[in-house]
Amino acid sequence: MADILALSLLKSQNVHKIPHRMDIRCFLSGADGQEDAPCELLHFKLIGGLLSTMQNDILFFAEQRNGRIQKISLELAGGAKRLAAQSGGRSIAFLPGRDVSAEAQILLKAGADAVFTADSPLLAFYSTGLYGALMEQAARNVNPGLILLGSTTIGMDLAPALAVKLDAGLAADCTGLWVEDGVRMARPSLDGITNDTLCCPDGNTVIVTLRPGVLTPLTKEEALSLPAPAADAVQELKLPEPEEALRMQNGVELLKAELGVKRTDDITAARVLVAGGRGMGGPAGFETLGRIAALLGGSVACSRACIESGWADTSCQVGQTGKTVRPALYLACGISGAFQHTTGMEGSGLIISINKNPAAPIFDISDLGIVGNVEVILPHLIQALESYQTIE
Ligand SMILES: Cc1cc2nc3c(=O)[nH]c(=O)nc-3n(C[C@H](O)[C@H](O)[C@H](O)COP(=O)(O)OP(=O)(O)OC[C@H]3O[C@@H](n4cnc5c(N)ncnc54)[C@H](O)[C@@H]3O)c2cc1C
Repeated sequence: MADILALSLLKSQNVHKIPHRMDIRCFLSGADGQEDAPCELLHFKLIGGLLSTMQNDILFFAEQRNGRIQKISLELAGGAKRLAAQSGGRSIAFLPGRDVSAEAQILLKAGADAVFTADSPLLAFYSTGLYGALMEQAARNVNPGLILLGSTTIGMDLAPALAVKLDAGLAADCTGLWVEDGVRMARPSLDGITNDTLCCPDGNTVIVTLRPGVLTPLTKEEALSLPAPAADAVQELKLPEPEEALRMQNGVELLKAELGVKRTDDITAARVLVAGGRGMGGPAGFETLGRIAALLGGSVACSRACIESGWADTSCQVGQTGKTVRPALYLACGISGAFQHTTGMEGSGLIISINKNPAAPIFDISDLGIVGNVEVILPHLIQALESYQTIE
């Protein structure tokens, strides 16, 4: 049925089809009715009976700081590679910065099939104008169906500027991305009560910003199974003349950027998170969590209730309006398990929960649930961890 629909649509557009597995590669008849000419521009894909004109390549923004690739870039590289494998396209990175050419090799090992670099002292620091112009150049080279950026300070600034330049759709701050009858994105609704699923209309390039931790880097096995990159896998983009570059930065040149004082750990990078909820009872409870986190080599996280009570810093909040985390171990102490919280941590490797209410929803997503009082259990845990470290 889907095939008949596809064929009739194709015929109505003066296009014949050549089926190739799920793909339909198209050859457009010349205007004079002469020999069919291969047409790269038309690449229809049959997904679940619907015809989508989405280009299959995926472009992603590889973020760096001081010339070093950031973790979010490896997450996007892994996610883009897996999606590209499903769409039959390529995963292509855009890497701007100063002295970043060597980092392109890291992206190739992380899942990029190709990398567009733009290497210049002018790109040492982010600017919307210059980065935007170069990413537009990369996008016009590739004509991707999907463009991915991290939902980071830079990604959230760059994505809308790019959407305007490319006249593309934008789904911002997403907490999920997958293929199901086309590309689907999940994001919390503006009122925060529901989680929405979004799709992009056929044929439009869609730009998606994803929260850190939503996509995952390739596993060691996946990385080892990558084919050797093509000889021309890394390509330099054409840089504008210095005067033109300065104009693109609205006549402003950033001379120096100094690191501010880091207030808390980055919970999205932690392998172990010791998280507290309202059940921790107050700031003293969080000191206990801090001791456990130190013993386990992890960081402290929390539910929103604790931010509202002023017990923890906002940067520690996990969930819909906080951060998405995927540590190897998530220890949830006195957290009820409201979906606004679990949406940000359910992808964790091992979830262990302590709650005095046996019916607490957090137990539904836990690998190990301990029914009990945190004030009783946590001191025992500290004792056990300390003696374990002495034995070690
Ligand atoms: C728009 C919107 C966005 C939101 N975004 C987020 C978000 O990003 N992140 C987030 O976390 N929440 C968010 N929330 C809030 C969310 O709905 C919950 O209210 C919040 O997660 C509850 O936090 P909690 O589990 O710490 O507290 P509670 O729901 O009060 O649960 C406390 C738990 O501790 C247990 N407990 C109490 N004392 C003890 C003890 N001594 N020992 C053991 N267990 C004990 C209780 O049995 C209970 O299960 C959002 C809400 C809205 C409306």
